[in-house]
Parts: sequence; structure tokens; C-alpha cells
Amino acid sequence: MARFCFLLETTMPTYKAPVSDTVFLLSDVFGYARYANAPGFSEAPLDVVEAVLSEGAKFVEQVVQPLNRIGDIEGCKRGDDGAVTTPKGFKEAYKRLVEGGWVGLSGDPAYGGQGLPSFVGALFGEYECSANIAFSMYPGLTRGAVAALAAHGGDELKARYLSKMTTGEWSGTMNLTEPHCGTDLGLIKTKAVPQGDGSYAITGQKIFISAGEHDLTDNIIHLVLARIEGAPAGVKGISLFLVPKFLPDADGGIGERNAVACGSIEHKMGIHGNSTAVLNYDGAKGWLVGEAHRGLPAMFVMMNGARLGVAVQGLGLSEVAYQNAAAYAKERRQGRSLKGAAEPDKSADLLLVHPDVRRMLLEIRAFNEAARALLVWIAVTQDEARLLPDAKMRAAAEDRLGLVTPVLKGVFTDYGFANAVKAQQVLGGHGYIAEWGMEQFVRDARIAMIYEGTNGVQALDLVGRKLPKDGGRAIMAFFGEISGFLAANKDDAALAPYLGALKASLGHLQQATLWLQANGLKDPDNAGAASYDYMHLMGLTALGYMWARIVKTVLAKQTAGESTPDLDAKLVVAKFFNERMLPETSAHLARLSAGAQTLMALPAEAF
Ligand SMILES: Cc1cc2nc3c(=O)[nH]c(=O)nc-3n(C[C@H](O)[C@H](O)[C@H](O)COP(=O)(O)OP(=O)(O)OC[C@H]3O[C@@H](n4cnc5c(N)ncnc54)[C@H](O)[C@@H]3O)c2cc1C
Repeated sequence: MARFCFLLETTMPTYKAPVSDTVFLLSDVFGYARYANAPGFSEAPLDVVEAVLSEGAKFVEQVVQPLNRIGDIEGCKRGDDGAVTTPKGFKEAYKRLVEGGWVGLSGDPAYGGQGLPSFVGALFGEYECSANIAFSMYPGLTRGAVAALAAHGGDELKARYLSKMTTGEWSGTMNLTEPHCGTDLGLIKTKAVPQGDGSYAITGQKIFISAGEHDLTDNIIHLVLARIEGAPAGVKGISLFLVPKFLPDADGGIGERNAVACGSIEHKMGIHGNSTAVLNYDGAKGWLVGEAHRGLPAMFVMMNGARLGVAVQGLGLSEVAYQNAAAYAKERRQGRSLKGAAEPDKSADLLLVHPDVRRMLLEIRAFNEAARALLVWIAVTQDEARLLPDAKMRAAAEDRLGLVTPVLKGVFTDYGFANAVKAQQVLGGHGYIAEWGMEQFVRDARIAMIYEGTNGVQALDLVGRKLPKDGGRAIMAFFGEISGFLAANKDDAALAPYLGALKASLGHLQQATLWLQANGLKDPDNAGAASYDYMHLMGLTALGYMWARIVKTVLAKQTAGESTPDLDAKLVVAKFFNERMLPETSAHLARLSAGAQTLMALPAEAF
């Protein structure tokens, strides 16, 4: 126990899922009731969604979160036979996760899923990640593999694998990375040789494969990018294969062991409870998913889902770090208020009297609450793109999803890490000491900025692909959405003080977009040099728009006579965001407008 543990009941981090905030956003801010008759949504009325999220919250708080620390300390262990053991308690918790139907929450009922719209799974995902990010990755990757297989797999593969994977009885993985090939998938060497019976022999090495080997499920189904013999070079010659650890027997159960083995697992900075495996494929039997040489678009189904999933990891860690830092600041006493002792009868005042401690807490909270709103909006957009009967509305939702996905991944995970560090700072030296749990949040949050496409690559995807796509239709719609909101509310005197900073940041984003149009094409390095700031400028503007919508909802409730401390607090946090965080958009604009010249000026030998 630490020297100061007498100050607090316990040093172990705790977590309470913010269900009421999620439901407030869904129902009040985004008007979920309007989907009451929409196919796919109608089976999930608000009371059902709320009940599911509340039950899910209990499950992660009581079963999953208590394993977070032990998972970090014990980590995964690989035996001499290549088998990997997960930390104590993971197996039992995973079994309960499967039995409770949580893996297949948004899965297809035809394959044993619960059939809820996918946004429910995404919102539950935040709670899973806050509770235990390493554990959450096992079901998370499985859900992604299910989506790719459902979208691109042939009937036989679907019949054989989808039921067991949808429920979580068998888990899934994503195999892209090789020792010489990370971001640049065109370099993939793993080869696939047709066997004449419809199967392929897969040979090669994949590294950094999350959940690549473990003891939670009887079988692990790997989705593997490989190159069919004689395929064209580059990304156009890559195909996607399903390679099971065990080949299913005639009854669909566990059959012969396939020729894929775990060569080692990585010792790494965080997420110790998730095994990161080197997988050696030695002529392993695999089956093509989708068309030959069209593996990347098929894998993109999994990668896009995973990008949103990783964004949620950033938010989840930021939220749990905030909760524990705020609890600490409400109990720890150091120094006196600058205005004189706030509690003269006590030895010192609470940390919360210090403006700088409040700054740190409010910076985290102002992000968390707006980011949760953005998550709700985009998670519902995902279902709109799939379920709405009107083709135009589906296309508009698809545009928004495509545009905002890299922003969510890059911005949420950058803030996730920065906020974990800020929360650690609130605890002073104790934040650096393992038993308080804050340093684990920092270590766990770091990977989210790297995997699923580094954040720099997300920014390039945004600027290089998503902005120019369809003549800029998606970004124009995004501008239209925010300017439409500003115009519709311009005469609302109560709301007006909350809209000035948003209007300015939208202007910065529009100027930045024009700058890119004018300068990116004539020198592509200008686009590359601007991309990171552009991504953050857009992220801040989107978060600012979320705050504007939250404030509008709160003010309407207050006008109707509803007043609670939570609603009052939202207005203060919104103001804080507008005064102290949203103005950063002007710095992003100034930086990106500097162009690439200085950035590219030094010759390689000068570095
Ligand atoms: C713990 C962990 C778990 C992982 N899980 C999985 C998994 O389950 N499945 C899987 O397939 N992979 C997984 N990965 C791999 C991960 O996705 C890659 O590490 C990541 O995509 C980056 O690839 P790289 O490490 O080879 O870095 P590189 O591609 O070598 O990049 C190095 C740096 O250069 C930058 N860079 C590279 N190319 C460009 C470019 N064209 N333009 C601008 N900047 C560029 C990058 O942003 C980065 O900063 C995991 C990695 C880790 C550490």
C-alpha cells in the first residue's frame, strides 16, 4: 500500500458506466424516437436500448473491470508448445460474456446474434473499453471478422463459421502486418497456392496479431491477407483468406489442427492482457473470402469497423481516467485556495480549489462528453447507411461515415492518450505509481494511436481520399450540416453565446479546405504537411458542433422547467470547451497554411 492510501478508501481504479449520459444523447440530443418506424431500428425502442446498456454496464463493472489490473500484471503467457494462456479470470469472464449474448449483441439473429442495431454494440463498446481495453479486444476483433465474412464470404464459409463466431464461441483475428510490411500493404509477401479442391495453402509470417493465440475459445479464425501465386504486384494482387486454427470436422466441431502456429508473443508497453502474436503459416489450409485479388476492399469492412472500435478505445480510456482523477481531486488535500483557505478547519484544501487542477479535469471532461455525442451520432449514422429505406438518405449517411471515421480514429485516440496523461498528472506522484492504476491507462492508451493505421495515416486518408471523393460531396454536406444548424438557431438569444466559437471554427475549417484545394494538388507534400492539423481542426469543429447540439437540448429542457445539476453542469462544460479548447482551430489553420516548404527543406543527412 502506498504511503497516502489512508487518504482514500482504495487506490484501485473504479469505473461507473455513463449510461444516463449515453441515453440522454441518444434520446434527447439526437431524437432517437424519429426512428420508431424505421426497419431495423424499430426492434430496438429506447427502453430496450436503455435496458441493454444498463445490463451491459453492470456486467463490465462487476465482471470485466476487476480483471483490468490483474491482466496488466500477469499478462499473457506462451508455453513451449506455442499455446497462450490469458491472465487469471479472463477465461471465466469471457465465458460469461458469450453466455450473456454480449459478443453477438448486434449480430445477425440468423447466426445466433441478438439482432440489435450496430450502434448499440458501439455504445456498449465504450463501457467495455473503459473497463478493460485488453479484454475488450477479444470480442471486438471477432465482431469485425464476422462483419467481413458476412459481407464477402461465400455461402459455404458463412454456414460453417458465422454462427460460432457471431456468438463468440469461436473468436476472430485480423492478419495484415508482416515484418517488412505495416502501413504499406502492397508489400505483403504471404503466399496462397491453390490446392485444386477450392482451398489454398497459405505460407508466410504475420506479426503483431492481436488475440492471435489464446485460451478463451476452442477455435480461432484468422482472416489473412495473402497473395495468390502469380498475382500482380502491389495492393491490386492481394486476396483475403479465412484460415482456422482447427479445421472444422464433418459436424462443424473441432477437427484437425491446421498448420498455423504462434511463434512468440510480444512484450509490450500496454494492453498486456491481450496477446500480440507472431503467427507462422506453413502451408495452412485457407479459403478465399470474396474475389481473388480483391482482398483489400473485403478486409476494409473489418478495418473500418475496427477504426471506429479503436476510436472508442480512446474515449473509453479518457472516461475511466477522468472518473478516477476526479475522485482523487475530491479527496486529496494539498495547499490552500489562492483566495484564502476554503476549509480553514482542515489541514489543507482539496485539490479541486486549484484552477490548474480544474483545467486538467475540465479539458478531459469537455472532450469526453462531446466525443460520446459524436460517437452516438456516427454509430447511428452507421445503421442509417445500412437500414434506411431511402437510397439518398443511405448515401448521405455513407458519406458522413466515410468522412468522419478517420477523424474519430485519429482525434479520439490522440485525446485518449493525452487525457490519460492529464488524469495521471492530477494524481501527482501517485499517478506514476502502478498501484493507483493511472499509469496503466497511459500505457494502454498509447497503442490506439498506432494500430489500425497510425493517426498520421488516418489524416492522409482524410485529406487524400475522403475530401476529394465524389467532388467533395461529403465535406460539403458536413459544412451544410453545421452552417444549417447555425442559421436555424441564429435568433435564439439563449443559445447565441454558445455558438460564436463554433461559427469561427467552421470558418477555419472552410478556409483550410480551400487552402488544400488550392495548394494540395500543385504540391502533394502540401497536402501531407497539412493533413494532421486538418484532421484535428475538423475533429474540434465536430466536437464544437456536438456541444452546440447538447446546449440547445439542455436549454430547451430548462425552459420546460427541468433543471438538474447534471444539466446545469453541461452548460458550464460547454462554455469551457468554447472558451479554452475550440479556439485551437485557429492555430491548426495557421500551422497548416504554412505549407510543406520548411518541413521538407532539410536534406536526409541533416537529420
Ligand atoms: C500491440 C499491437 C497490436 C497490433 N494488432 C494488429 C493486428 O491485430 N493485426 C494486424 O494486421 N496488425 C496489427 N498491428 C500492427 C499495426 O497495425 C502496425 O504497427 C501499424 O499499422 C503501423 O505499421 P508499422 O508498425 O509497420 O509502421 P510503419 O508502417 O513502418 O510506419 C512507421 C511510421 O511512418 C509513418 N508512415 C508510414 N507510411 C507512411 C505514409 N505513406 N505516409 C505518411 N506516413 C507514413 C507511420 O505513420 C509511422 O509513424 C498491431 C501492432 C501493435 C503494436
